[in-house]
Amino acid sequence: MIPLTIKINDLDNVAVVANANGLPAGTRLNSGLILKQDIPQAHKVALIDIQENSAVIRYGIPIGYAIKNITAGSWVSESLLKMPDARSLNNLPISTVKAKEQPPLEGFTFEGYKNADGSVGTRNILAITTTVQCVSGVVEHAVKKIKSELLSNYPNVDDVVGIEHTYGCGVAIDAQGADIPIRTLRNISLNPNFGGEVMVVSLGCEKLQPQRLMPPGSIFINKSDSHTEELNVVCLQDDEHIGFMSMINSIIESAKNHLEKLNKRKRVTVPASELVVGVQCGGSDAFSGITANPAVGFCTDLLVRVGASVMFSEVTEVRDGIDQLTSRASSPDVAQKMINEMQWYDNYLEKAKVDRSANTTPGNKKGGLSNIVEKAMGSIIKSGTSSITGVLSPGDKLKQKGLTFAATPASDFICGTLQLAAGMNLHVFTTGRGTPYGLAAVPVIKVATRTDLARRWHDLMDINAGKITDGTASIEDVGWELFHMMLDVASGRKKTYAEHWKIHNSLVLFNPAPVT
Ligand code: CA
Repeated sequence: MIPLTIKINDLDNVAVVANANGLPAGTRLNSGLILKQDIPQAHKVALIDIQENSAVIRYGIPIGYAIKNITAGSWVSESLLKMPDARSLNNLPISTVKAKEQPPLEGFTFEGYKNADGSVGTRNILAITTTVQCVSGVVEHAVKKIKSELLSNYPNVDDVVGIEHTYGCGVAIDAQGADIPIRTLRNISLNPNFGGEVMVVSLGCEKLQPQRLMPPGSIFINKSDSHTEELNVVCLQDDEHIGFMSMINSIIESAKNHLEKLNKRKRVTVPASELVVGVQCGGSDAFSGITANPAVGFCTDLLVRVGASVMFSEVTEVRDGIDQLTSRASSPDVAQKMINEMQWYDNYLEKAKVDRSANTTPGNKKGGLSNIVEKAMGSIIKSGTSSITGVLSPGDKLKQKGLTFAATPASDFICGTLQLAAGMNLHVFTTGRGTPYGLAAVPVIKVATRTDLARRWHDLMDINAGKITDGTASIEDVGWELFHMMLDVASGRKKTYAEHWKIHNSLVLFNPAPVT
């Protein structure tokens, strides 16, 4: 067995063990260094003697300080590191880095569904919006019935989904922060994959009334179509409903009208600039920042070059690299918006007396990530090297091309839900430990960081970025593979594994406001 260790930056005094089963004590590395202990895969080896209190450096920055002397060849486990303090949000470098000139990429297209508001869908789905959790059981029943008895009459419609959530009542709806879940829900209903065919199921007595959720003017997609000018609401408490089946029939009748219109949609060739891609990671390991995330970052640059929209998110996973982000901001205004989002999140965490260290999971640590600083450095790479030209608050709709920081929690489900509200029509998800994550409303392309995961989960992972450490593909190769897969998936020529198995997670609204 040839020992394989990876050092990311010339300044690093640790390297990561890449071999699938780790390396045993006594192994001699290429450099001549002999391992003093067994070191598991994805974990760090000290390349030189590191004195107590001095910096352990990875990605060229201190990811922690040694709590005791660490000799060269030892395992630098999480327990040997003291985490650095969070970077202050004052005196940050603002727009100091000029992104290297990247020529535009032309000629790439996909087959998508054009919407009247200018957006483009990658799937043709009927979404049934709900104002409150109380109606979920009824809507679920109706959705099952529509799928089994009705959907085959509308061959151009891919699916029917109920937009289920736990908001709508029992919440302080006028509290500070309540606007976040409300606008998230509104903007999800307007996702390009739903074609502007908004239908709402309401209970009747809930706090989040249909007109508050979708105020006049919010349904803009099919304005020329007189049928959808007025909000289409089925209210379960209406006097007309006598018994359960009458509610189901009302929902089905209403759905028929929208299915009819959705069925008329046809895919047309559109430029790749119509892609709105959300990238995130979950179940990360030390390879996330070596294989999958750098490949996604390369692809992010390709997307910017074709003029598409691409969002990276997960505040707690970029907070420790805030100086890298503000320096890449295209203007002081963009940098300031980014700082404001970080400040908001710092305050949010502080209210509950936790800090950013609440992020890392036992699985992250087992996967070799010592703390959030190390995790963040590997996470930020997904954003590539382009200038950051936009910042989006949670639940808002994205209205610009290029690279945007969409502020969201790192929670896979909340991040996915907020990126959906932003208008994403394609999702890219990297994982090292492995997660079967999927969303019902948009295709999710999953990228494995290690060949071992891609082998075991061969029918859940769409791309294996582990080829990069195996030495059989470069970061650029995997980035291009992902880019081409995006165009195939967006066009409906290819289904992701999550779509194939119809596995998807619940939407989870971000509600920083109190419940009552
Ligand atoms: Ca995540």
